Amino acid sequence: MSELVEAGDVAAALQTSSGSIFSGVCIDTACSLGMCAERNAIAHMVTEGEGHIVRLVVLMPDGSVGMPCGACRELMMQLGGDAAAIEILADANTFCTVRLADLLPTWWS
Ligand SMILES: [Zn+2]
Repeated sequence: MSELVEAGDVAAALQTSSGSIFSGVCIDTACSLGMCAERNAIAHMVTEGEGHIVRLVVLMPDGSVGMPCGACRELMMQLGGDAAAIEILADANTFCTVRLADLLPTWWS
């Protein structure tokens, strides 16, 4: 990869209603043309013909869990179904989760 692109600092894995797990890593570029790990995992899921996310975990470079950014939250919500109920791991020690609806309490649609 070129010096203008870095990948893999953040990783994400999601599980669908069928039990399948899809993963992705972030791609960071000099001109913001990259993509978050979550959206790469979602693209992987859609490519494989699935679309119903049940749970998501995001791993930050230090190994801690992270929360999806606004763009990733919006994309997951727009996937529809019961996306508002997607469980997102918030604390790897306590296994505390939050629902996507908690992160988008006043979603526009
Ligand atoms: Zn994101």
